[in-house]
Amino acid sequence: MNKKRKAIYDKTGGRCFYCGSQLGEKGWHADHVEAIRRDWWTDTCINPHLDHDDNKVPACASCNLQKGPLTIEQFREKIADFVKSLNSYHNQYIVAKRYGLVQETEVIKPLFWFERVGEGNQ
Ligand SMILES: [Zn+2]
Repeated sequence: MNKKRKAIYDKTGGRCFYCGSQLGEKGWHADHVEAIRRDWWTDTCINPHLDHDDNKVPACASCNLQKGPLTIEQFREKIADFVKSLNSYHNQYIVAKRYGLVQETEVIKPLFWFERVGEGNQ
């Protein structure tokens, strides 16, 4: 891991900034907390002032891909809607729930790892 990536990785002690999973040395993403936008035609960054290491955190691939260009609050809303989506569109989830294999839980807005750490619940 190069020095710049190591500095980003060390911001969380190698945990995903969002879900808190332990990241390996490879396969994690450097997420822009405040998303950068690319002009895909010219392959240039539209808001280069956000493309700096202070705006980057380590994230697991799945969190980073789910978050995409969303803000933290938009990402939180997206995750909160997952259960609604499961109940509406995913027959396997509905059947598993009917057979008691999955417990329905109250839909809550998730707390991200960096917020849980702030509460002392690492
Ligand atoms: Zn994650």
